[in-house]
Amino acid sequence: MDLSFTPRELEFQQEVRQFLAGNLPPHIVEATASNSSVFVEKDIALAWQAILVEKGWAVPQWPTEHGGTDWTPAQKYLFSKECYLAGAPMLIPLGLLMLAPVIMAFGSDEQKRELLPKILSGEHYWCQGYSEPGAGSDLASLKLKAESDGDDYIVNGSKMWTTHAHLADHIFCLVRTDSSGRPQQGISFLLVSMDTPGVSVAPILTMAGDHEVNQVFFDNVRVPKSNRIGEENKGWQYAKYLLEFERGGGFSAPRIQHELQRLGKLVAATRQEIADFDADGEIARRIARLHIDLKALEITELRILSSVSGGGNPGPESSILKLNTTRLEQSINELSVDVLGYRGFPMNPIADGIPNRPDYISSVVPRYLNNRAASIFGGSQEVQRNIIAKMVLGL
Ligand SMILES: Cc1cc2nc3c(=O)[nH]c(=O)nc-3n(C[C@H](O)[C@H](O)[C@H](O)COP(=O)(O)OP(=O)(O)OC[C@H]3O[C@@H](n4cnc5c(N)ncnc54)[C@H](O)[C@@H]3O)c2cc1C
Repeated sequence: MDLSFTPRELEFQQEVRQFLAGNLPPHIVEATASNSSVFVEKDIALAWQAILVEKGWAVPQWPTEHGGTDWTPAQKYLFSKECYLAGAPMLIPLGLLMLAPVIMAFGSDEQKRELLPKILSGEHYWCQGYSEPGAGSDLASLKLKAESDGDDYIVNGSKMWTTHAHLADHIFCLVRTDSSGRPQQGISFLLVSMDTPGVSVAPILTMAGDHEVNQVFFDNVRVPKSNRIGEENKGWQYAKYLLEFERGGGFSAPRIQHELQRLGKLVAATRQEIADFDADGEIARRIARLHIDLKALEITELRILSSVSGGGNPGPESSILKLNTTRLEQSINELSVDVLGYRGFPMNPIADGIPNRPDYISSVVPRYLNNRAASIFGGSQEVQRNIIAKMVLGL
């Protein structure tokens, strides 16, 4: 593909810039800058989502018939880039970019009519029930049992590490409907309302001090079979499809570019303060390396995501994006902590030593700690390498 932008695309970029200048509220920018978690606060994300929905720009990746845009891949990329550079938050992808593509591809017409508008408007806030105690990388060994009882399933067991389960009103779950064959063969994909009797949520606090993840318990939870996506025992196919979107359904390079800009500001502030800062040029070399790696990621991302345009799926190449995005983000986190040095201690740094301390500095160490999990969630780095070896390289 041609990776340069046409005059029309550059005009579009200006239009996006103008829209952001007039419509991105400062309190959303501030909340995004000081956020140290994977997702911004729910109310902040939903406030920004509502503004984008009104403009018709909330889900450029969706087909137009469901409320998406007819933008080219380059326009989608430029939109994402301008949003991040302006300090806008990432919309929470669980419903919008993970569940919605599965509903579009495998859901019934009624499920599409009923659920997609509620995901888009933010009326439904979803969480992802895949992992369980003992079923993470080896996801197919999951045990959450769904037993048939007339038109319903009775669900028993638990899900682990469920991000935002304490904030969500719905959960999409992988359940075991058959244990007789290969583990992959007896899995179904079920949608459950969190207020169904028998569903309960217990918090898990991370080492960054955040409450993001939870364990969700199911105690004789009655779920209508009409809440199942697709066919019974075919859920593994839908689950893998969703993971492609989780690992590579959006643009990460613009977000990383924004993080590199923040690192640049941190370095500039530190340089003013410390006369012999980076005397041996090691930090400058690491920053140069990050910029080179970012360029490579940007081109790979554009190449892969151009194939997603118009409702396709990212394919196993999404593992390349997940692997490299995580590596780059964690390298930026590490370098930021190195630059901050002793001022980053204790965990929530005061950073008094830096004049005109920008807001984002207090989130450097919490962000570093929180983002250690990026090489685990969505499938660990080792698992991504296994997928690349088998599915992309054919080894
Ligand atoms: C912050 C956070 C948020 C999360 N959010 C969600 C969520 O919302 N919903 C959800 O369903 N899950 C979520 N997860 C779970 C996540 O997907 C799992 O933690 C992940 O898949 C790893 O599974 P595990 O924790 O059971 O580790 P294990 O599978 O036990 O892995 C332990 C280690 O062994 C390595 N390993 C395992 N198998 C192999 C192999 N075959 N080859 C090489 N190395 C291997 C792994 O790379 C890892 O380093 C979240 C996790 C975290 C940390």
